[in-house]
Amino acid sequence: MNQPTIVRTNTAELYDAYVMKSYNRAPLTLVRGQGVSVWDDTGREFLDFASGVAVNALGHCHPVWVEAIRRQAGELIHTSNLYRNPNQGELARRLVQQAGPGRVFFCNSGAEANEGLLKLARLHGIRKSGEEGKCYKVICAKMAFHGRTFGGMSATPQEKVQKGFRPLLSGFAFGELNNLQSFADLVDESTAAIFVETIQGEGGVTPCTDEFLWGLRQLCDKHNLLLMLDEVQCGIGRAGTFFAFQHSGVRADAIGMAKGLGGGYPIGAIWAAEKHAELFTPGSHGSTFGGTPLACAASLAVLDVIERDKLLQKVQTNGAAWKGLLEKLVTEFPKQVKTVTGRGYMLGLVLHSEPGPYVAALRDGGLLCPVAGGNTVRLLPPLIATMENLNQATEIIRGVLKKKETA
Ligand SMILES: *Cc1c(COP(=O)(O)O)cnc(C)c1O
Repeated sequence: MNQPTIVRTNTAELYDAYVMKSYNRAPLTLVRGQGVSVWDDTGREFLDFASGVAVNALGHCHPVWVEAIRRQAGELIHTSNLYRNPNQGELARRLVQQAGPGRVFFCNSGAEANEGLLKLARLHGIRKSGEEGKCYKVICAKMAFHGRTFGGMSATPQEKVQKGFRPLLSGFAFGELNNLQSFADLVDESTAAIFVETIQGEGGVTPCTDEFLWGLRQLCDKHNLLLMLDEVQCGIGRAGTFFAFQHSGVRADAIGMAKGLGGGYPIGAIWAAEKHAELFTPGSHGSTFGGTPLACAASLAVLDVIERDKLLQKVQTNGAAWKGLLEKLVTEFPKQVKTVTGRGYMLGLVLHSEPGPYVAALRDGGLLCPVAGGNTVRLLPPLIATMENLNQATEIIRGVLKKKETA
């Protein structure tokens, strides 16, 4: 298992010929993963701090997770939502235990979870105004990212996401993140909900301040709006609490989750507080694949390991120490590094220039990580990463900064 596997492939040619060109992919073919490491087809090992974009909560091929999937695959994989399955019921219970009294709906991705939230906001608007089409506006944040579906794109005010796909859904407005007044100014009769990422991911790693979240809560209470939090990226332990918003103590009306939830197996979910969850009635929402026995088994394994290995505590402690180490890079390389943002294992190294060349140099140095908006290098280690792994990544980053400084 520790011997590098060399699997020469013609994958690059196959992609060139047959795969749609919707991504700017790194020139790298990955063939194997174990823990915090992945290997490419030349046998080279990388420290994987992309984690499949905040997905592989337990790293690669965690034994508990692999065993859960193996066992479930031999027992029952898919049944549809025409019938119950034990794993979905148990996973819903576990998520309610984390999020608070309410109910869960299962889907397959982050965008799909957010579609569910937007549909919930529409139903809330009807309950509030007494008729359809009168109260439907959702206030989101500038620099937000909520997914690539029409609802998700409409909630994502970024030219690079929306370009080419207009007209989008109507009924979205955008305030400045962490500027409560700018959100308050957008509330009117037609407003049904406020929808923000607790920590913005794609747009730059930017957390909502606790004060801002409390302000949104009050604003929502005052005007009978749903406070909907997109925890697709920052949830499931990534920020050192099960949901990132728990750091603030604020109560949400509805939550979207996905990425880390299945630890690499696709699953998404929404949670809503009881009185909002009841807005969905039989026939009003659905998903063929949502909450299969297999997806829920994978997710239960993730939750079990987070609990068993006290990963939330570790992410909190290690994440804070790591942020301190990265902040030293701001003083060491002030011309290149502006600041460090984020919390837990969701940190952003904010640079003074385009992050693309840095991410490429880090890859050459053996560290995989994605970019984000606002000149940010995004660091998303798996929740199982040890302080030693974080130190190792920091040294690779330091090496790249040093090289660029003298170049
Ligand atoms: C990734 C992401 C989404 C979209 O999730 P998909 O699974 O790619 O559809 C939505 N919201 C946030 C905050 C995300 O990070």
